[in-house]
Amino acid sequence: MENEPVALPKKLSPSSMSDFKRCPKLFEFKYIQRISTPPTIATTMGNLVHLVLERLFDVPPDRRTPELADDMVEPAITTMLFPFKSIDEQMSELEVAIREASGLFDGSGIEQWEKERAQKSASEWLELMPEGSPERAKVADGARNAITTYFEVERPANFDPEDREIHIEASIGGAVVHGYIDRLDRYLISDDEERWVISDYKTSKPPTPSQRNSSYFRNTILPERLFAMRVYALLLAESIDVLPHSLRLIYLGPSDVETAIDALPASEGRPPLSRSNVIGEEVSVTSIDQTRQEVIRIHSEILDAAEVNSWPAKTGKLCDWCDFKTSTEHPCPAFAAS
Ligand code: SF4
Repeated sequence: MENEPVALPKKLSPSSMSDFKRCPKLFEFKYIQRISTPPTIATTMGNLVHLVLERLFDVPPDRRTPELADDMVEPAITTMLFPFKSIDEQMSELEVAIREASGLFDGSGIEQWEKERAQKSASEWLELMPEGSPERAKVADGARNAITTYFEVERPANFDPEDREIHIEASIGGAVVHGYIDRLDRYLISDDEERWVISDYKTSKPPTPSQRNSSYFRNTILPERLFAMRVYALLLAESIDVLPHSLRLIYLGPSDVETAIDALPASEGRPPLSRSNVIGEEVSVTSIDQTRQEVIRIHSEILDAAEVNSWPAKTGKLCDWCDFKTSTEHPCPAFAAS
């Protein structure tokens, strides 16, 4: 009920803060009422691509080929759908390797809540894409296309990431903020200069050159898309005292002719900062401080909203992608009557 204080989530994440900025009602649905929405083909494909790209770097550099990544798709799907399976004779070597590296082999050593979360996701994925279904084929085909694009953007045989899927957490102005970085690279520029680069994979289409040049994209869309990585940079600075050099959004979705992917010179070992499928941004002490101030402001607004339990619906262009717009069980009040 309005005006009654509510229990907030213990930690904020870039997603929850973005959701609050986008629409307080959406934040309430997801993080106060904890209503989860079922996975879609697009989100499941995204999870699959992230798993394959994470595990690709487990093998020696000369084995990181498009063929191997393609071969990893099916065992990665099986690992996602049946996370805690014991080894059996039918299990391929690749599947064993993916499970071992992901800590999803038999479930030992994993905390109960993590196990329950993985099992819940697995049963939702299985419902979305039962064996032999067109949905499973779409997820697998979409992932293969994204992986093909990935190898046109980077040459994973040319570098070793510092880490992948790293959990980071820090207290920012009284709020505990955490997140997972897809990939962190560290490479030497000279004998005494190194650069840390945060990379995030997106399986959506890259913006076209004309979109990139529009002021709406630069002033509204781009800051929204970079927000999570700016928070990761802040968390790295706060938690391990590292000021990252730059942020990279790597788009793996289909691109049209206008945004044809640049070929990456074979001699270029470092992850590129700016290409047609990459949006990059350099990090500075000033940008870190601006992000810190933004996180503090969002946290303060969330506390204010929680104090009076008021989460107004804020309609906008992104409502068309919001599950609550058409939900019958949890309808958004802004659309319930229409
Ligand atoms: S449909 Fe729009 S206004 Fe309603 S909860 Fe979703 S984002 Fe907010």
